[in-house]
Amino acid sequence: MPRPDISLEFFPPKSLEASFRLWDTVQTLSPLGPRFVSVTYGAGGTTRELTRDAVKAIHKQSGLRTAAHLTCVNATREETLEIARGFWDVGVRDIVALRGDPPKGEDRFTPTDGGFQDSCELIEGLKAERDFTIRVGAYPDVHPNAGTQQDDVDYLKRKFDAGADEALTQFFFEAETFFRFRDACEKAGIDKPIVPGIFPVENWKGARRFAEACGTKIPQWVIDAFETAERDGRSDLLATSLCTELCSDLIEGGVDKLHFYTLNKPELTRDVCHAIGVTPETRLENVA
Ligand code: FAD
Repeated sequence: MPRPDISLEFFPPKSLEASFRLWDTVQTLSPLGPRFVSVTYGAGGTTRELTRDAVKAIHKQSGLRTAAHLTCVNATREETLEIARGFWDVGVRDIVALRGDPPKGEDRFTPTDGGFQDSCELIEGLKAERDFTIRVGAYPDVHPNAGTQQDDVDYLKRKFDAGADEALTQFFFEAETFFRFRDACEKAGIDKPIVPGIFPVENWKGARRFAEACGTKIPQWVIDAFETAERDGRSDLLATSLCTELCSDLIEGGVDKLHFYTLNKPELTRDVCHAIGVTPETRLENVA
């Protein structure tokens, strides 16, 4: 099986203890030679400073290519572009550009006065400012705001036309879901990379809630398997094997890049990576 190139997603820590956990995750996983790592931006634009500080610290201390997530929520254009310029000035060249989810308690995205209206505007604004590498979100299971999969594919095409370089997908449970989406994108004339987002399930109840919120469908066989494994106290084992199988199926279907949602916990991601042949010994030289 060919070795895929991996990238890793973290979230910004909100406490001293969480900072140590993030750092432990970075140190445990960086020997795998990730293509890049990224740091999320809290829903509702709530972690602006924490994201900025975590991106800068990881970029400086680890030497890994580090991407900052930015959203259109709760910020004017100038505030967002100023943050982006700050990243550029310290050598950060990668942005994950998102419309973003609304703050807690609101169920629809409302643009801020003077802010970017949608992800296409954000991508155009960032590209006009500096020559960032821009990654965007994509939704194999259909985004809750989209009527059909074709709406998502058409909108993804618009994001590439606006200047995006690559898409990272929301997580999904079956390789077939990704392949169907990839085929629809190809049919629409999208020829840029679409990288599957991989979610090793550390916490089944949390994963169910998260899937529901972001429109990821959970097949009944996965629900049954996790409920049995939870009862037997073996959900880590199940999570590792299901995630390894998903990654293997994707690689067999021609996927050469995987993006892992680590949730700042290194063990499952590391075990799955090792099982698919991504080890420190096989690391690819991805230098910043
Ligand atoms: P968009 O692609 O802009 O919109 C989603 C869908 O809505 C589109 O596919 C389209 O069908 C429809 N749509 C939206 N705008 C229009 C329009 N103007 N015209 C027509 N159709 C439209 N959230 C955070 O808050 N912080 C993060 O750090 C973060 N990181 C993420 C990383 C990844 C890889 C992914 C996949 C998601 C992430 N999210 C994050 C979640 C994301 O913010 C939400 O899914 C949000 O609801 C959509 O953002 P987007 O930029 O992907 O959406």
